[in-house]
Amino acid sequence: MPAPILRLALPSPLRRLFDYRAPPGVPIAALQPGMRLRVPFGRREVVGVLVEVSGHSEVPADKLKAALELLDPRPPLPASLLRLCRWTAHYYQHSLGDTFGWALPALLRQGEPAERRQERWWQLAEGARPDDPRLARAPRQREALQALAQHPHGVPQAVLGKLQLNKASLDLLQAKGLLRSEVRDHAPRERHGGWLLQAELPLNDEQREAVEAVRAGLGGFNAFLLAGVTGSGKTEVYLQLIRQVLESGRQALVLIPEINLGPQTLERFTRRFNARIALLHSGVGDRERLDAWLAARDGEADIVIGTRSALFTPLKHPGLIIVDEEHDASYKQQEGLRYHARDLAVVRARQEEIPILLGSATPSLESLHNAHTGRYALLQLRQRAGHARPPRFLRLDVKSRPLDAGISPPLQQAIGRTLAAGQQVLVFLNRRGFAPTLLCHDCGWIAQCPRCDARMTLHQRQRELRCHHCGHAERQPTACPQCARVDLRPVGAGTERTEERLATLFPDYPVLRIDRDSTARKDALPRLLAIIRRGEPCLLVGTQMLAKGHHFPRVTLVAILDADGGLFSADFRASERMAQLIVQVAGRAGRAEEPGTVILQTHLADHPLLVQLAEQGYLAFAAQALEERRAAGLPPFAHLALLRAEAHRPGQAEGFLEQAGDEAQHLLDALPLSGIEVLGPVPAPMERRAGRHRAQLLLQATSRAPLHRLLGPWLAALERLPGARTVRWSLDVDPIDLY
Ligand code: ADP
Ligand code: ZN
Ligand code: ZN
Repeated sequence: MPAPILRLALPSPLRRLFDYRAPPGVPIAALQPGMRLRVPFGRREVVGVLVEVSGHSEVPADKLKAALELLDPRPPLPASLLRLCRWTAHYYQHSLGDTFGWALPALLRQGEPAERRQERWWQLAEGARPDDPRLARAPRQREALQALAQHPHGVPQAVLGKLQLNKASLDLLQAKGLLRSEVRDHAPRERHGGWLLQAELPLNDEQREAVEAVRAGLGGFNAFLLAGVTGSGKTEVYLQLIRQVLESGRQALVLIPEINLGPQTLERFTRRFNARIALLHSGVGDRERLDAWLAARDGEADIVIGTRSALFTPLKHPGLIIVDEEHDASYKQQEGLRYHARDLAVVRARQEEIPILLGSATPSLESLHNAHTGRYALLQLRQRAGHARPPRFLRLDVKSRPLDAGISPPLQQAIGRTLAAGQQVLVFLNRRGFAPTLLCHDCGWIAQCPRCDARMTLHQRQRELRCHHCGHAERQPTACPQCARVDLRPVGAGTERTEERLATLFPDYPVLRIDRDSTARKDALPRLLAIIRRGEPCLLVGTQMLAKGHHFPRVTLVAILDADGGLFSADFRASERMAQLIVQVAGRAGRAEEPGTVILQTHLADHPLLVQLAEQGYLAFAAQALEERRAAGLPPFAHLALLRAEAHRPGQAEGFLEQAGDEAQHLLDALPLSGIEVLGPVPAPMERRAGRHRAQLLLQATSRAPLHRLLGPWLAALERLPGARTVRWSLDVDPIDLY
C-alpha cells in the first residue's frame, strides 16, 4: 500500500491543493486537518494548511516532496473555521490557500506558534494603600500606586507606558510588598457582579419586540433584519441581546464598518459589560490580532468586535452574530478574495446554527428583498428612541440658481438663520479637495490624469493636482501646459473650497472640515469631534465620513449640496447608495430635543425616487427602487459574476475576455445550463486606470445555482487560456461595483 499523501492549501493563486509526503519522523496518525506545515514550494519555503490526508496522488511518487516540518501539535484552526474557509473559497472561486491568507492572522500565516503571548501583569498587593506611610517621601511611588489602584484587575506590562508608570517605581513598590506582579496569558474577568456594569435602558415597545423575537430564536439558525431609523436605539437592542447571549455562556461576534470604529462605539460596549472584549480592526497590530483570535477561539473573549475580516474569527461557544450598518459597502472586499462579510456572516450563522441580526437605518435592497421573501424576519424600529424627533426633508430646486462654491442663496440664508439661533449646521459634499478639476479659460485645457481616464482634483492648500483613482500627484501649474497663458480656473466645488467660502460668508463662526485629508493625522478627528460636542454654533463641512456613527445633537440643519449624482450614474446601485448616504447624513441632525431640517439641493426636484425618499422615507424609496430592479432584471432579482481584465496594451484585455466569453458559451451549451447571459466584453467605465487598459465581461443569471455550476469549470478553462498569464484578470462573484 502506498504511503498516505498530505494535501495542503498553499499561499498561491492556483485553485488547487498540493501533495506532499509527511515530514520525516512524523507519523501520519499525528496529522489532522487544520494543522500547519512548512513545505518547499518552488524555490521558497511556505506555510501550508493541511486539508486532508489522502490514499493516493496524481503526482508520481518520485516527484513527491516531503514536508519539512509540522508546526502545530494541535490544529490551530477549528473545524468550523476550516469549513467556512472552504465554503468561501468555493463560492468566490478563489484559491483555498489564498483564502486562508485573507482569513487568518498574519502571524499564523507566517508560521508563528498558535500560542498566546505571556505577559506580566501588575496589581496592588492585598491590603496595600496609596497612603501607606512608607510612601510619605516617595511621591513618584505614591502616584504609581494611586494609578494602579484604579485598575483592580491589574495592568499588563505593555500598558505601563501609556499610564506613565515607570518600571523602577514599580520594582521599589514590589520590594516593599505593596505591589505584586504575575505572568498571565489573558485578561481576567471579574466573575462576581454579573455581566452588567451599567443599568440597561427600559426598552420601548418596538425595541422590546425586536429583542424578544431574536431571543426566541437563540439556539438555532435564524436571520433577522433590524430596520430601524437613525437614532431608534438599534445599539441598545444589540446590547440587551448580547447580555442574554453572555448569560447563556456563549460568545457574540459584532461586525461594524471600518469607519464606525470610533471610540464612541467601543465605549458603549465597555461601559455596559463586565466582559472580555476582543477588538479586531485594521489598526490592531499583528501580535494583538493573534492574541485576540486565540482568545476568541478558546472561549476567553466574550465579545468580538471587528471590521470585515473579523468575520473569520473562530468562536468556541458561538451564540449570536450582529452585523451593524449591514448596507455598508466596506463589508465587501474589493481586492484579492472579493468576499462580502455580511453575506458570509449569514452563511456562518447557518453553519454554526446560531441567529444573525443585520441592522441598518438604510438596509441594502438585497437584505430587504430577503426579508420580503421570508428568508429574513423583518424587525422595525420606526421611531427615534427617547424624545428625539425625526428630521424634516426639503427639496431645494437649484435649477438656474447661481451656486457659490456649491451653495445657493436660499441655503445660505437658512444657514445664517440656524447659526444665529445658536445651533450647528452640517454641510455635506461627497468630494474632497478644492475643486474637481482645473480648467484653462483660454484654450479649454483640463487637468487630466496622465495614467487614468479621469480628471485630477485640485488640492489648493498643498498646491497639488491629485488623481483620486491612482494616487498620481503633480504640482499645481501656474500657467496652462497647453497654451502657456495663466487664466487657470478651478471648476466646481470640493470640501476645501466650500469650507473656504463658508468661512468668508460666516466669519463669526468656526468652520470645521471633516474628510480624509483633514483627518489624516491620528488625533485630528477626535479633536474636531470634541469641538463640535462643546455645542457652540459652528459649521461642519465634510464627506461621507460625517455620515456614519457620530451623534451631533446640536446640529439642526443638514445641507446636502448635491443630491443628483446618484440619479445620473451608469451604475445601477448609484441611486441606492445616494439614498443611503442622504438618510445617514440626515440622521445626524436633531437627535436631541431640537428637531432637524434637511435641505437637499437638486436639479431634479421632481425625480420620483427623490420625492419618495424625502416624503415617505427610506423604506418607501427602497420599495420603488426594488420594483425598478425587478423590471430591469437586476440584482437582487438576478445574480452577477464579473470578470475583469486589464493589460498594458490596448485591446489585450478585450482579446482575453473575447476568448473567455467563448469558453462560457461552450460550457453553457455543453453542460447545458439555461438562464445565463454572457454580456460583453466591454471597456470598463474608466477604460484606462493607473496606466492599464481595462475591460470586463458580465455573466448575468436568473438564478444562482446554474451560475455557480458554470463558474468552476469556466475558471478552470480560463486558467488554460493563452492570455491567462499575460493579462491581469479576476473574477468578482456578486460584484457591488461594475467597474
Ligand atoms: P441607533 O443605533 O439606532 O442609531 P442608538 O442605539 O445610538 O440608535 O440610540 C440613539 C440614542 O437613543 C442613544 O443616545 C441611546 O442611548 C438612546 N436610547 C436608545 N434606546 C433608548 C430607550 N429605550 N430609552 C431612552 N433612550 C434610548
Ligand atoms: Zn490653455
Ligand atoms: Zn490616475
